[in-house]
Amino acid sequence: MFAEIGFQPDLIRSVAELAQLPFLDKSKIRANTEALKADNAQGLARFNTGGSSGEPLIFFIGSQRVSHDVAAKWRATRWWDVDIGDTEIVVWGSPIELGGQDRIKQVRDQILRTQLLPAFEMSEAKLDSFIASIRSTRPKMLFGYPSALTHIAQHAQKRGVAMNDLGIKVAFVTSERLYDNQRATISQVFGCPVANGYGGRDAGFIAHECPAGGMHLTAEDLIVEIINEAGVVQPPGVAGEIVVTHLATNDFPFIRYRTGDIGVLDTGTCSCGRGLPMLKEIQGRSTDFVIAADGTVMHGLSLIYILRDLAGVQSFKVVQESRALTRVQVVAGPEFQPSMVEQIVIGFQRRLGQEVAVQVELVDSIAAEKSGKFRYIISHAV
Ligand SMILES: [Zn+2]
Repeated sequence: MFAEIGFQPDLIRSVAELAQLPFLDKSKIRANTEALKADNAQGLARFNTGGSSGEPLIFFIGSQRVSHDVAAKWRATRWWDVDIGDTEIVVWGSPIELGGQDRIKQVRDQILRTQLLPAFEMSEAKLDSFIASIRSTRPKMLFGYPSALTHIAQHAQKRGVAMNDLGIKVAFVTSERLYDNQRATISQVFGCPVANGYGGRDAGFIAHECPAGGMHLTAEDLIVEIINEAGVVQPPGVAGEIVVTHLATNDFPFIRYRTGDIGVLDTGTCSCGRGLPMLKEIQGRSTDFVIAADGTVMHGLSLIYILRDLAGVQSFKVVQESRALTRVQVVAGPEFQPSMVEQIVIGFQRRLGQEVAVQVELVDSIAAEKSGKFRYIISHAV
């Protein structure tokens, strides 16, 4: 593509000149996954993401990129007086997904004093055990989806268990939009401030909140552009789609990558004194909880994980009509196999219950909600 437009990287002198380049979107990555791997790539690992946006994506990350993202995370952690080696409780994906690579991760987690609580199953018994784990571990930091941490906090309130006396310094949340009521609940119950983070495995560690409330960009690693619907770069203060160029992605480039999220570049300075530029008003996508036939409350990601690992699924929408019936709309790409319908049904029934009817419907496109919001998991079950 560089050759087609006569683009010469070594002649680039400013960020504005990047606008000569076309955007990289999920469909281009999907169509060129192998070609995007650099000939001299090192330590490429396969990842998938984008589940909560309803547009799954399989891609690769090299070892240099992993180091940059981990470093960006720990820098932001230090803003909150939590450092490498401090105990951390992570409320995240399910052990059902743990594979060979993740056993290495478990060892690493032990060394880094990280304890994983699987977020997908939120039965009363599980919630009781999460509360007990957090109480006995007395972590310096909590890390997880805002919805999951809120759920645990509300359960502690319901049980009348105090969680604000453990010395927790901060609750890091990411992957979903953080609502004000969630921030208030988490902060009150755990007796600590909530720090919002924005980023993903694909686009990288984009921005993180400082104690003064600014969402600082990882500006050494990332160039963030805001574009309008016509693809034209917008000035600070104007809302548009967040486009990211990650400078540590030589192994598998993310150049002018369209995240699909909406945001605004901040024009102001932060009272904390840090010079990193800021994002404001990130409008990520929201995810609902779903309820299994036996009443277990589960994070919507437990179903999304099944869909996003199928190479042929371009986008989807899950509607849980009741505990007995869940409908799945799928926009199928060229790689979609008829057998994947059965895989989806089996996967969903494993989570929701064998007796649950799962209807998979192949559609040309996913209709937007009346509100204009993007919701890819909707639950009407009670
Ligand atoms: Zn700041």
